[in-house]
Amino acid sequence: MSDPHKNSVAQLEAVAKLLVEQYSDKKRFMQVIEKLKVPDRVIEGELVVVMDNGQTRKFQAFRSQHNNARGPYKGGIRFHANVSKSEVMALSTWMTWKCAVTGIPYGGSKGGIVVDPRELSQTELERLSRAYAQLLADHIGPWTDIPAPDVNTTGQIMAWMVDEWEKVRRERDGQIHEDPLATFTGKPLGLGGSQGRDEATGLGGAFILEKLTQALGQKPREIKVAVQGFGNVGSWFAIHAHRSGYKIVAISDSKGGIYIESGLDPKEALTVKQNGGKLEDLLKGKAAARLTNEQLLELDVDVLVPSALENVITDQNAGQIKAKAIIEMANGPITPEADLILDKKGILVIPDVLANAGGVTVSYFEWVQNLQGYYWSHEEVLAKLKPLMDAAFDQMWQMKQKTHQSGRVSVYLTAVKRVVDTIMLRGRV
Ligand code: NAD
Repeated sequence: MSDPHKNSVAQLEAVAKLLVEQYSDKKRFMQVIEKLKVPDRVIEGELVVVMDNGQTRKFQAFRSQHNNARGPYKGGIRFHANVSKSEVMALSTWMTWKCAVTGIPYGGSKGGIVVDPRELSQTELERLSRAYAQLLADHIGPWTDIPAPDVNTTGQIMAWMVDEWEKVRRERDGQIHEDPLATFTGKPLGLGGSQGRDEATGLGGAFILEKLTQALGQKPREIKVAVQGFGNVGSWFAIHAHRSGYKIVAISDSKGGIYIESGLDPKEALTVKQNGGKLEDLLKGKAAARLTNEQLLELDVDVLVPSALENVITDQNAGQIKAKAIIEMANGPITPEADLILDKKGILVIPDVLANAGGVTVSYFEWVQNLQGYYWSHEEVLAKLKPLMDAAFDQMWQMKQKTHQSGRVSVYLTAVKRVVDTIMLRGRV
Protein backbone atom coordinates (compact mmCIF):
# COMPACT_ATOMS: atom_id res chain seq x y z
CA MET A 1 0.00 0.00 0.00
CA SER A 2 3.01 2.31 -0.35
CA ASP A 3 1.57 4.02 -3.42
CA PRO A 4 -2.25 4.08 -3.40
CA HIS A 5 -2.53 5.31 -6.97
CA LYS A 6 -0.31 2.50 -8.30
CA ASN A 7 -2.59 0.14 -6.40
CA SER A 8 -5.72 1.51 -8.06
CA VAL A 9 -4.07 1.20 -11.48
CA ALA A 10 -3.06 -2.42 -10.78
CA GLN A 11 -6.67 -3.20 -9.81
CA LEU A 12 -7.94 -1.64 -13.04
CA GLU A 13 -5.43 -3.59 -15.13
CA ALA A 14 -6.49 -6.87 -13.52
CA VAL A 15 -10.17 -6.18 -14.23
CA ALA A 16 -9.39 -5.02 -17.79
CA LYS A 17 -7.73 -8.39 -18.52
CA LEU A 18 -11.01 -10.13 -17.64
CA LEU A 19 -13.24 -7.62 -19.42
CA VAL A 20 -11.37 -7.27 -22.69
CA GLU A 21 -12.84 -10.51 -24.09
CA GLN A 22 -16.29 -8.93 -24.09
CA TYR A 23 -15.23 -6.21 -26.57
CA SER A 24 -14.86 -6.79 -30.31
CA ASP A 25 -12.71 -3.68 -30.72
CA LYS A 26 -10.01 -4.59 -28.18
CA LYS A 27 -7.71 -1.76 -29.21
CA ARG A 28 -10.41 0.82 -28.48
CA PHE A 29 -11.20 -0.86 -25.16
CA MET A 30 -7.55 -0.69 -24.11
CA GLN A 31 -7.41 2.99 -25.10
CA VAL A 32 -10.28 3.67 -22.69
CA ILE A 33 -8.53 1.71 -19.93
CA GLU A 34 -5.34 3.75 -20.48
CA LYS A 35 -7.40 6.93 -20.12
CA LEU A 36 -8.94 5.66 -16.86
CA LYS A 37 -5.54 4.98 -15.31
CA VAL A 38 -4.95 8.73 -14.98
CA PRO A 39 -7.38 11.31 -13.52
CA ASP A 40 -8.73 13.86 -15.98
CA ARG A 41 -7.25 16.65 -13.85
CA VAL A 42 -5.47 17.21 -10.54
CA ILE A 43 -5.75 20.72 -9.10
CA GLU A 44 -2.96 21.53 -6.66
CA GLY A 45 -2.25 24.62 -4.65
CA GLU A 46 -0.70 26.08 -1.55
CA LEU A 47 -3.25 27.64 0.80
CA VAL A 48 -1.91 30.60 2.75
CA VAL A 49 -3.83 30.99 6.01
CA VAL A 50 -3.49 33.65 8.69
CA MET A 51 -3.23 31.91 12.05
CA ASP A 52 -4.65 33.27 15.32
CA ASN A 53 -1.19 34.56 16.32
CA GLY A 54 -1.06 36.77 13.20
CA GLN A 55 1.54 34.64 11.41
CA THR A 56 0.78 32.90 8.12
CA ARG A 57 1.04 29.16 7.48
CA LYS A 58 0.99 27.31 4.18
CA PHE A 59 -0.97 24.11 3.56
CA GLN A 60 -0.69 21.83 0.53
CA ALA A 61 -4.11 21.15 -1.04
CA PHE A 62 -5.35 18.87 -3.83
CA ARG A 63 -8.47 18.00 -5.81
CA SER A 64 -8.33 15.04 -8.18
CA GLN A 65 -11.09 14.80 -10.81
CA HIS A 66 -10.85 11.28 -12.17
CA ASN A 67 -13.62 10.83 -14.72
CA ASN A 68 -16.92 12.56 -15.53
CA ALA A 69 -18.28 10.45 -18.40
CA ARG A 70 -21.34 9.39 -16.33
CA GLY A 71 -21.99 12.75 -14.65
CA PRO A 72 -20.34 15.52 -12.61
CA TYR A 73 -17.33 14.55 -10.53
CA LYS A 74 -18.28 13.60 -6.94
CA GLY A 75 -16.14 12.96 -3.88
CA GLY A 76 -15.22 14.02 -0.38
CA ILE A 77 -12.59 16.34 1.06
CA ARG A 78 -10.15 14.91 3.59
CA PHE A 79 -8.19 16.93 6.18
CA HIS A 80 -5.31 14.71 7.32
CA ALA A 81 -1.56 14.86 7.81
CA ASN A 82 -1.10 11.83 5.50
CA VAL A 83 -2.98 13.30 2.51
CA SER A 84 -0.89 13.05 -0.67
CA LYS A 85 -1.38 13.55 -4.37
CA SER A 86 -1.19 9.80 -4.93
CA GLU A 87 -3.85 9.18 -2.25
CA VAL A 88 -6.39 11.64 -3.67
CA MET A 89 -5.76 10.27 -7.18
CA ALA A 90 -6.51 6.73 -5.99
CA LEU A 91 -9.53 7.77 -3.93
CA SER A 92 -10.97 9.71 -6.89
CA THR A 93 -10.58 6.59 -9.06
CA TRP A 94 -12.43 4.48 -6.46
CA MET A 95 -15.20 7.11 -6.35
CA THR A 96 -15.73 6.66 -10.11
CA TRP A 97 -16.31 2.94 -9.52
CA LYS A 98 -18.42 3.51 -6.37
CA CYS A 99 -20.83 5.85 -8.18
CA ALA A 100 -21.07 3.42 -11.11
CA VAL A 101 -21.87 0.50 -8.75
CA THR A 102 -25.18 1.97 -7.57
CA GLY A 103 -25.80 3.63 -10.94
CA ILE A 104 -26.00 7.19 -9.60
CA PRO A 105 -25.19 9.74 -12.32
CA TYR A 106 -21.78 10.89 -11.14
CA GLY A 107 -18.12 10.47 -11.93
CA GLY A 108 -15.39 10.35 -9.31
CA SER A 109 -13.25 12.92 -7.53
CA LYS A 110 -11.57 13.45 -4.17
CA GLY A 111 -9.85 16.31 -2.42
CA GLY A 112 -7.63 16.84 0.55
CA ILE A 113 -5.46 19.17 2.57
CA VAL A 114 -2.27 18.10 4.32
CA VAL A 115 -3.15 19.18 7.85
CA ASP A 116 -3.80 17.78 11.30
CA PRO A 117 -7.01 19.67 12.11
CA ARG A 118 -6.58 18.99 15.84
CA GLU A 119 -3.76 21.57 15.78
CA LEU A 120 -6.13 24.31 14.54
CA SER A 121 -8.59 26.51 16.40
CA GLN A 122 -12.16 26.81 15.05
CA THR A 123 -11.36 30.18 13.45
CA GLU A 124 -8.21 28.78 11.80
CA LEU A 125 -10.21 25.78 10.55
CA GLU A 126 -12.79 28.14 9.07
CA ARG A 127 -10.13 30.24 7.29
CA LEU A 128 -8.49 27.07 5.93
CA SER A 129 -11.86 25.74 4.66
CA ARG A 130 -12.66 29.06 2.99
CA ALA A 131 -9.19 29.17 1.37
CA TYR A 132 -9.82 25.71 -0.09
CA ALA A 133 -13.20 26.81 -1.51
CA GLN A 134 -11.44 29.80 -3.11
CA LEU A 135 -8.81 27.55 -4.69
CA LEU A 136 -11.54 25.36 -6.21
CA ALA A 137 -14.03 28.14 -7.04
CA ASP A 138 -13.73 27.68 -10.82
CA HIS A 139 -13.48 23.89 -10.72
CA ILE A 140 -16.54 22.91 -8.68
CA GLY A 141 -20.28 23.48 -9.08
CA PRO A 142 -23.53 21.47 -9.28
CA TRP A 143 -22.79 20.33 -12.83
CA THR A 144 -19.00 20.20 -12.54
CA ASP A 145 -17.76 18.66 -9.30
CA ILE A 146 -19.63 18.26 -6.01
CA PRO A 147 -17.49 17.85 -2.87
CA ALA A 148 -18.65 16.37 0.46
CA PRO A 149 -17.20 15.58 3.91
CA ASP A 150 -14.64 12.80 4.36
CA VAL A 151 -12.09 12.05 7.09
CA ASN A 152 -12.01 14.96 9.61
CA THR A 153 -14.39 17.19 7.65
CA THR A 154 -17.91 17.98 8.84
CA GLY A 155 -21.22 19.58 7.92
CA GLN A 156 -19.96 22.85 9.45
CA ILE A 157 -16.93 22.80 7.13
CA MET A 158 -19.26 22.25 4.14
CA ALA A 159 -21.37 25.22 5.34
CA TRP A 160 -18.31 27.52 5.37
CA MET A 161 -17.33 26.29 1.91
CA VAL A 162 -20.86 26.85 0.50
CA ASP A 163 -20.76 30.40 1.81
CA GLU A 164 -17.27 31.12 0.45
CA TRP A 165 -17.95 29.60 -2.96
CA GLU A 166 -21.11 31.71 -3.26
CA LYS A 167 -19.22 34.87 -2.21
CA VAL A 168 -16.39 34.33 -4.71
CA ARG A 169 -18.78 33.60 -7.59
CA ARG A 170 -21.06 36.54 -6.74
CA GLU A 171 -18.17 39.01 -6.48
CA ARG A 172 -16.73 37.83 -9.75
CA ASP A 173 -19.86 37.38 -11.88
CA GLY A 174 -22.17 39.95 -10.23
CA GLN A 175 -24.80 37.26 -9.76
CA ILE A 176 -25.00 33.54 -9.07
CA HIS A 177 -25.67 31.30 -12.06
CA GLU A 178 -25.43 27.98 -10.21
CA ASP A 179 -26.95 26.84 -6.91
CA PRO A 180 -24.36 27.03 -4.08
CA LEU A 181 -26.31 24.48 -2.02
CA ALA A 182 -26.11 21.89 -4.82
CA THR A 183 -22.33 22.45 -5.06
CA PHE A 184 -21.63 20.57 -1.81
CA THR A 185 -23.34 17.66 -0.04
CA GLY A 186 -23.14 16.46 3.56
CA LYS A 187 -24.37 19.88 4.66
CA PRO A 188 -26.17 20.49 7.96
CA LEU A 189 -29.98 20.17 7.85
CA GLY A 190 -30.24 23.93 8.43
CA LEU A 191 -28.39 24.64 5.18
CA GLY A 192 -29.86 22.28 2.59
CA GLY A 193 -28.73 18.96 4.09
CA SER A 194 -30.77 15.78 3.63
CA GLN A 195 -32.72 13.82 6.18
CA GLY A 196 -31.12 10.42 6.74
CA ARG A 197 -27.60 11.35 5.60
CA ASP A 198 -26.06 10.56 9.02
CA GLU A 199 -27.25 6.96 9.06
CA ALA A 200 -27.14 6.35 5.29
CA THR A 201 -23.78 4.56 5.08
CA GLY A 202 -24.50 2.20 7.99
CA LEU A 203 -28.05 1.54 6.87
CA GLY A 204 -26.92 0.85 3.28
CA GLY A 205 -24.50 -1.74 4.71
CA ALA A 206 -27.29 -3.34 6.75
CA PHE A 207 -29.36 -3.66 3.54
CA ILE A 208 -26.38 -5.45 1.96
CA LEU A 209 -26.17 -7.80 4.97
CA GLU A 210 -29.85 -8.69 4.51
CA LYS A 211 -29.36 -9.39 0.79
CA LEU A 212 -26.34 -11.56 1.55
CA THR A 213 -28.31 -13.53 4.15
CA GLN A 214 -31.13 -14.12 1.65
CA ALA A 215 -28.67 -15.14 -1.09
CA LEU A 216 -27.12 -17.71 1.27
CA GLY A 217 -30.55 -18.97 2.31
CA GLN A 218 -30.03 -18.13 5.99
CA LYS A 219 -32.07 -16.35 8.67
CA PRO A 220 -30.89 -13.18 10.46
CA ARG A 221 -31.20 -14.78 13.90
CA GLU A 222 -28.69 -17.47 12.83
CA ILE A 223 -26.03 -14.86 12.00
CA LYS A 224 -23.43 -13.67 14.52
CA VAL A 225 -21.87 -10.32 13.63
CA ALA A 226 -18.73 -8.53 14.92
CA VAL A 227 -18.31 -4.81 14.15
CA GLN A 228 -14.94 -3.08 14.43
CA GLY A 229 -15.34 0.68 14.96
CA PHE A 230 -18.37 2.20 16.65
CA GLY A 231 -18.38 5.65 15.07
CA ASN A 232 -20.92 6.96 12.58
CA VAL A 233 -20.75 4.01 10.19
CA GLY A 234 -20.24 1.14 12.66
CA SER A 235 -22.91 2.27 15.13
CA TRP A 236 -25.62 2.83 12.49
CA PHE A 237 -24.74 -0.46 10.82
CA ALA A 238 -25.05 -2.30 14.14
CA ILE A 239 -28.29 -0.53 15.14
CA HIS A 240 -30.03 -1.35 11.85
CA ALA A 241 -28.70 -4.94 11.70
CA HIS A 242 -29.83 -5.54 15.30
CA ARG A 243 -33.26 -4.12 14.46
CA SER A 244 -33.49 -6.64 11.59
CA GLY A 245 -32.82 -9.53 13.97
CA TYR A 246 -29.05 -10.15 13.63
CA LYS A 247 -27.04 -11.06 16.71
CA ILE A 248 -24.36 -8.43 17.28
CA VAL A 249 -21.85 -10.23 19.51
CA ALA A 250 -18.90 -7.80 19.40
CA ILE A 251 -18.23 -4.10 18.90
CA SER A 252 -15.17 -1.91 19.46
CA ASP A 253 -13.82 1.61 19.36
CA SER A 254 -10.27 2.97 19.45
CA LYS A 255 -9.94 1.94 23.13
CA GLY A 256 -10.82 -1.73 22.50
CA GLY A 257 -13.88 -3.92 22.26
CA ILE A 258 -16.38 -6.14 24.02
CA TYR A 259 -17.75 -9.59 23.26
CA ILE A 260 -21.15 -10.72 24.55
CA GLU A 261 -22.02 -14.30 23.63
CA SER A 262 -25.79 -13.75 23.90
CA GLY A 263 -25.67 -10.59 21.76
CA LEU A 264 -25.79 -6.90 22.67
CA ASP A 265 -28.07 -3.95 21.96
CA PRO A 266 -26.11 -1.35 19.93
CA LYS A 267 -28.56 1.43 20.89
CA GLU A 268 -27.78 0.82 24.54
CA ALA A 269 -24.06 0.91 23.69
CA LEU A 270 -24.50 4.21 21.86
CA THR A 271 -26.35 5.71 24.82
CA VAL A 272 -23.55 4.60 27.16
CA LYS A 273 -20.95 6.24 24.88
CA GLN A 274 -23.00 9.42 24.40
CA ASN A 275 -23.23 9.76 28.17
CA GLY A 276 -19.44 9.63 28.46
CA GLY A 277 -19.27 5.93 29.43
CA LYS A 278 -17.10 3.14 28.00
CA LEU A 279 -18.17 0.08 25.99
CA GLU A 280 -16.99 -2.16 28.82
CA ASP A 281 -19.70 -0.65 31.08
CA LEU A 282 -22.07 -2.94 29.13
CA LEU A 283 -20.33 -6.07 30.37
CA LYS A 284 -21.74 -6.02 33.90
CA GLY A 285 -23.35 -9.29 34.91
CA LYS A 286 -23.17 -10.90 31.46
CA ALA A 287 -21.25 -13.83 30.00
CA ALA A 288 -18.88 -11.49 28.26
CA ALA A 289 -15.29 -10.47 27.73
CA ARG A 290 -13.09 -7.53 26.85
CA LEU A 291 -11.27 -7.73 23.55
CA THR A 292 -8.51 -5.92 21.71
CA ASN A 293 -9.28 -4.70 18.22
CA GLU A 294 -6.96 -7.38 16.85
CA GLN A 295 -8.84 -10.14 18.74
CA LEU A 296 -12.18 -8.86 17.46
CA LEU A 297 -11.04 -9.37 13.86
CA GLU A 298 -10.20 -13.01 14.57
CA LEU A 299 -13.48 -13.97 16.31
CA ASP A 300 -15.38 -17.04 15.20
CA VAL A 301 -18.41 -15.18 13.82
CA ASP A 302 -20.45 -15.41 10.63
CA VAL A 303 -19.94 -11.83 9.46
CA LEU A 304 -17.08 -9.48 10.27
CA VAL A 305 -17.66 -5.78 9.63
CA PRO A 306 -14.55 -3.56 9.70
CA SER A 307 -15.95 -0.03 10.08
CA ALA A 308 -13.02 2.01 11.35
CA LEU A 309 -9.69 2.24 9.58
CA GLU A 310 -7.93 1.19 6.41
CA ASN A 311 -5.43 -1.71 6.24
CA VAL A 312 -6.57 -3.56 9.40
CA ILE A 313 -6.59 -6.97 7.68
CA THR A 314 -3.14 -7.64 6.24
CA ASP A 315 -1.05 -10.63 5.21
CA GLN A 316 -0.06 -10.82 8.91
CA ASN A 317 -3.56 -11.64 10.26
CA ALA A 318 -5.62 -12.73 7.21
CA GLY A 319 -4.73 -16.38 7.89
CA GLN A 320 -6.35 -16.14 11.35
CA ILE A 321 -9.69 -14.68 10.19
CA LYS A 322 -12.52 -17.11 10.99
CA ALA A 323 -15.56 -15.15 9.76
CA LYS A 324 -17.39 -16.66 6.79
CA ALA A 325 -18.00 -13.25 5.20
CA ILE A 326 -16.59 -9.74 5.55
CA ILE A 327 -18.57 -6.59 4.78
CA GLU A 328 -16.11 -3.73 4.22
CA MET A 329 -17.85 -0.69 5.71
CA ALA A 330 -14.57 1.23 6.15
CA ASN A 331 -12.70 2.28 3.03
CA GLY A 332 -9.85 -0.09 2.21
CA PRO A 333 -9.72 -2.21 5.42
CA ILE A 334 -8.18 -5.20 3.57
CA THR A 335 -4.78 -4.96 1.87
CA PRO A 336 -4.40 -6.51 -1.62
CA GLU A 337 -2.12 -9.24 -0.17
CA ALA A 338 -4.71 -10.13 2.49
CA ASP A 339 -7.43 -10.17 -0.16
CA LEU A 340 -5.68 -13.07 -1.93
CA ILE A 341 -5.35 -15.01 1.32
CA LEU A 342 -9.03 -14.52 2.23
CA ASP A 343 -10.09 -15.55 -1.27
CA LYS A 344 -8.07 -18.78 -1.00
CA LYS A 345 -9.71 -19.49 2.36
CA GLY A 346 -13.14 -19.12 0.73
CA ILE A 347 -14.10 -16.05 2.80
CA LEU A 348 -16.58 -13.91 0.89
CA VAL A 349 -15.68 -10.22 0.86
CA ILE A 350 -18.30 -7.59 0.02
CA PRO A 351 -16.07 -4.70 -1.06
CA ASP A 352 -16.21 -1.12 0.21
CA VAL A 353 -17.29 0.38 -3.13
CA LEU A 354 -20.54 -1.59 -2.78
CA ALA A 355 -20.94 -1.99 1.01
CA ASN A 356 -20.50 1.67 1.99
CA ALA A 357 -22.08 3.22 -1.13
CA GLY A 358 -25.18 4.22 0.89
CA GLY A 359 -23.40 7.42 1.93
CA VAL A 360 -22.72 8.77 -1.54
CA THR A 361 -26.18 7.61 -2.65
CA VAL A 362 -27.91 9.79 -0.06
CA SER A 363 -25.47 12.59 -0.98
CA TYR A 364 -26.92 12.21 -4.49
CA PHE A 365 -30.43 12.50 -2.98
CA GLU A 366 -29.32 15.67 -1.18
CA TRP A 367 -28.12 17.19 -4.48
CA VAL A 368 -31.42 16.23 -6.20
CA GLN A 369 -33.41 17.88 -3.38
CA ASN A 370 -31.26 21.04 -3.57
CA LEU A 371 -31.73 21.29 -7.34
CA GLN A 372 -35.51 20.82 -6.99
CA GLY A 373 -35.84 23.05 -3.92
CA TYR A 374 -38.16 20.33 -2.61
CA TYR A 375 -37.21 18.32 0.46
CA TRP A 376 -38.13 14.73 1.30
CA SER A 377 -39.09 13.22 4.65
CA HIS A 378 -36.76 10.88 6.54
CA GLU A 379 -38.93 7.90 5.52
CA GLU A 380 -38.85 8.89 1.83
CA VAL A 381 -35.05 9.13 1.82
CA LEU A 382 -34.59 5.71 3.44
CA ALA A 383 -37.20 4.11 1.18
CA LYS A 384 -35.38 5.42 -1.91
CA LEU A 385 -32.02 4.08 -0.70
CA LYS A 386 -33.07 0.42 -0.34
CA PRO A 387 -33.85 -0.41 -4.01
CA LEU A 388 -30.55 1.08 -5.20
CA MET A 389 -28.49 -0.90 -2.66
CA ASP A 390 -30.48 -4.09 -3.36
CA ALA A 391 -29.99 -3.76 -7.13
CA ALA A 392 -26.25 -3.14 -6.69
CA PHE A 393 -25.96 -6.29 -4.57
CA ASP A 394 -27.96 -8.36 -7.12
CA GLN A 395 -25.66 -7.24 -9.94
CA MET A 396 -22.60 -8.24 -7.92
CA TRP A 397 -24.12 -11.60 -7.01
CA GLN A 398 -25.13 -12.42 -10.60
CA MET A 399 -21.66 -11.47 -11.86
CA LYS A 400 -20.10 -13.64 -9.16
CA GLN A 401 -22.27 -16.63 -10.10
CA LYS A 402 -21.38 -16.13 -13.77
CA THR A 403 -17.63 -15.55 -13.46
CA HIS A 404 -16.75 -17.35 -10.17
CA GLN A 405 -14.61 -14.34 -9.29
CA SER A 406 -14.30 -12.79 -5.82
CA GLY A 407 -16.92 -10.31 -4.59
CA ARG A 408 -14.48 -7.46 -5.19
CA VAL A 409 -13.62 -8.47 -8.75
CA SER A 410 -17.33 -9.08 -9.50
CA VAL A 411 -18.23 -5.55 -8.37
CA TYR A 412 -15.34 -4.03 -10.33
CA LEU A 413 -16.31 -5.93 -13.48
CA THR A 414 -19.76 -4.29 -13.40
CA ALA A 415 -18.55 -0.83 -12.43
CA VAL A 416 -15.62 -0.58 -14.83
CA LYS A 417 -17.73 -1.92 -17.71
CA ARG A 418 -20.38 0.74 -17.06
CA VAL A 419 -17.81 3.54 -17.17
CA VAL A 420 -16.03 2.14 -20.24
CA ASP A 421 -19.32 1.73 -22.12
CA THR A 422 -20.37 5.30 -21.33
CA ILE A 423 -17.03 6.66 -22.54
CA MET A 424 -17.47 4.64 -25.76
CA LEU A 425 -21.05 5.89 -26.20
CA ARG A 426 -19.76 9.44 -25.96
CA GLY A 427 -17.02 8.60 -28.46
CA ARG A 428 -14.37 10.02 -26.17
CA VAL A 429 -11.72 7.70 -27.61
P1 NAD B 1 -15.92 7.94 12.77
O1 NAD B 1 -14.76 8.83 13.07
O2 NAD B 1 -17.29 8.38 13.08
O3 NAD B 1 -15.73 6.52 13.51
C1 NAD B 1 -14.54 5.80 13.51
C2 NAD B 1 -14.61 4.76 14.61
O4 NAD B 1 -13.42 3.98 14.56
C3 NAD B 1 -14.70 5.32 16.02
O5 NAD B 1 -15.55 4.52 16.78
C4 NAD B 1 -13.27 5.15 16.56
O6 NAD B 1 -13.22 5.01 17.98
C5 NAD B 1 -12.90 3.86 15.88
N1 NAD B 1 -11.46 3.63 15.82
C6 NAD B 1 -10.45 4.54 15.69
N2 NAD B 1 -9.27 3.91 15.73
C7 NAD B 1 -9.54 2.60 15.88
C8 NAD B 1 -8.74 1.44 15.97
N3 NAD B 1 -7.42 1.51 15.95
N4 NAD B 1 -9.37 0.25 16.06
C9 NAD B 1 -10.72 0.17 16.09
N5 NAD B 1 -11.51 1.22 16.02
C10 NAD B 1 -10.93 2.42 15.91
O7 NAD B 1 -15.76 7.59 11.20
P2 NAD B 1 -16.88 7.03 10.22
O8 NAD B 1 -17.50 8.16 9.50
O9 NAD B 1 -17.71 6.06 10.95
O10 NAD B 1 -15.97 6.29 9.12
C11 NAD B 1 -15.45 4.98 9.36
C12 NAD B 1 -14.94 4.41 8.04
O11 NAD B 1 -16.00 4.39 7.08
C13 NAD B 1 -13.81 5.18 7.36
O12 NAD B 1 -12.98 4.26 6.70
C14 NAD B 1 -14.53 6.03 6.33
O13 NAD B 1 -13.69 6.38 5.25
C15 NAD B 1 -15.59 5.04 5.89
N6 NAD B 1 -16.76 5.66 5.26
C16 NAD B 1 -17.53 6.56 5.92
C17 NAD B 1 -18.66 7.09 5.30
C18 NAD B 1 -19.58 8.02 6.05
O14 NAD B 1 -20.65 8.33 5.51
N7 NAD B 1 -19.26 8.45 7.27
C19 NAD B 1 -18.98 6.75 3.98
C20 NAD B 1 -18.17 5.82 3.30
C21 NAD B 1 -17.07 5.28 3.96
